[in-house]
Amino acid sequence: MPSREARLARNEVMFRAINDHIREFATRFEHLAEEKLAFICECADETCVERVSLKASQYDEIRAIPARFVVVTGHEATPLVERVIFWGSDFAIVRKIGVAADVARELTDSE
Ligand SMILES: [Zn+2]
Repeated sequence: MPSREARLARNEVMFRAINDHIREFATRFEHLAEEKLAFICECADETCVERVSLKASQYDEIRAIPARFVVVTGHEATPLVERVIFWGSDFAIVRKIGVAADVARELTDSE
């Protein structure tokens, strides 16, 4: 039976797949390399449509670790499933812990 944490993590991984497409699209166009792109918030709320402005390279850096996600500041989930490792005025970077981290890793590996 999937736990609530696992479900939350799956939502976030789904958002991340969309962001991967945004990033891939940008890398095809050199002039976009230094532009900020509108990545979608990778928070646990499946109805969230907010955007996070980041360069493709910044997004890559965050994604270098599969358990890390970028969310709009204030969209961090419960401390039970993630820790905030960066907290800025526009966006925050969270790192999944426990079950949520396992789900993020598994889903990322199977892509
Ligand atoms: Zn959000």
